[in-house]
Amino acid sequence: MSSATVSAVTSALGHWIAGQASTAGGGTLSLRSPVDGASLGQLPLADASVVDAAVRSAADAFAKWNKVPVKDRVQVLYKFKEIAQRRLPELATCVSRENGKTGDEAAAGVLRGLEVVEFACGLPALMGGEIMEVSTGVDCYTRRYPLGVVAGITPFNFPAMVPLWMFPMAIGCGNAFILKPSEQTPASPLILAAWLKEAGLPDGVFNIVQGGRSTVESLLDHPGIAAAAFVGSTPAAKAVFLRGTVAGKRMLTLGGAKNHVVILPDADPVLVAKNLTASATGCAGQRCMAASVAMGVGDCDGIIEAIAAEMRTVRAGYDMGAIISSTARDRILGFIDAAETSGAQLLVDGRRPELPSAKQGGNYVGATLIDRLVPGSAPVKEEIFGPVLSILRVGSLDEALAIENASEYGNAAAIYTGSGAAARYFEQHASAGMIGINIGVPVPRDPFGFGGWNASKFGTGDITGRDAVGFWTQTKKTTVKWSAPATSNWMS
Ligand code: NAD
Repeated sequence: MSSATVSAVTSALGHWIAGQASTAGGGTLSLRSPVDGASLGQLPLADASVVDAAVRSAADAFAKWNKVPVKDRVQVLYKFKEIAQRRLPELATCVSRENGKTGDEAAAGVLRGLEVVEFACGLPALMGGEIMEVSTGVDCYTRRYPLGVVAGITPFNFPAMVPLWMFPMAIGCGNAFILKPSEQTPASPLILAAWLKEAGLPDGVFNIVQGGRSTVESLLDHPGIAAAAFVGSTPAAKAVFLRGTVAGKRMLTLGGAKNHVVILPDADPVLVAKNLTASATGCAGQRCMAASVAMGVGDCDGIIEAIAAEMRTVRAGYDMGAIISSTARDRILGFIDAAETSGAQLLVDGRRPELPSAKQGGNYVGATLIDRLVPGSAPVKEEIFGPVLSILRVGSLDEALAIENASEYGNAAAIYTGSGAAARYFEQHASAGMIGINIGVPVPRDPFGFGGWNASKFGTGDITGRDAVGFWTQTKKTTVKWSAPATSNWMS
């Protein structure tokens, strides 16, 4: 990123309300790039009065936007997608700078998010209601209505993609939207806001308030907000779900993950080594879909050695990106230290990566592979959110499934095998919402929805795909009779 571009991004840090940048609020937060520690400026934090201004702007905009027919609303999304695709490198550079992931990873995340925009462009087909003659001469039909002002609260690990999971469907359905991005990655969503305006979205339909927990709480407590979606860690997802629900809002909150992968002895070692390494070290392991615990069934020594060899080729600071903060890096190192002390075997040790000189001030952990762990130990149970793959040796597929089923989470689970019967058995018995069969990152793409089970999700339905139409709308059922039938019944 050139210094001119960096300063353009950082000088823009602030809220986005009624189509304008704003730096109002109470207090600021200093931001540093995880890539090299360079200052990214001061982020203004929204207090309750800033949140209220955003809600009022959104409510004013909603009054007009919800009267625009859906076929016209999605014209804005078509234009937005064209702009985003054309100017992808600008956004990818910003994501990479503030989040630490590589440029390729940043671009891939944005492109995945733009698939949701494509899906939302089909809302004229998706939003249609049903009609049926329910009694002689009596019709019942349904029509979907938007909810009003709605909010989205997002994590640091996909600064553009996770907001893109939410707002295209929400505004395409006719709502006005307020985004509260992670306070660690606030700049990328501002680029999305500017592109939406350029695409012709009326001011106030999309707003951003910056801040942390207290900003979220102001949103959840505001009576002008009808619904909120959240993506982040499980403790926050649970707290946000409960607070929003008590305040009478429709809530869907996605939480953390601990994804288990089963390797059967008949799995293809080359495929497993490449896939698992990419899954565990992509985005430096800071993905809710990352492989985290690999369970080798029976004699898997050769496959595990192949994974170790592949992980040794990944170089932090070169082909693997940074960890979001020094606090997060130290937490990851703590898991590795504790595993070593407990007697587990460090097949690949990423605690002291050799970095390029320009990145010495950044936050990095190298790819790490820990073997001979025991079920219930911290690296097997807790979400590490770093490039660390833990290995358990198990005697059977049922033993592996029992360990997977005991996890509090349930985002993704995967199996590597050449046996269709074993794969089908695994799919039926794993306790997770997204299953991979010979796939390391089993993200369901639209029209399939993204969402886990257990403590990886609170609420009903998935955040993307067809369920998103249901989440961001409410249905009116109308019963009509225009002519008196010859015979009357209870509905006459
Ligand atoms: P986080 O929970 O710390 O923060 C997420 C958002 O919630 C941020 O906007 C933050 O400001 C806000 N927040 C934090 N604590 C809060 C609280 N107590 N009350 C209200 N709001 C709060 O998560 P993070 O560190 O930004 O992101 C990483 C986490 O997100 C990981 O656990 C990861 O698994 C999870 N994640 C899940 C999915 C999924 O689809 N399930 C996708 C991406 C990330």
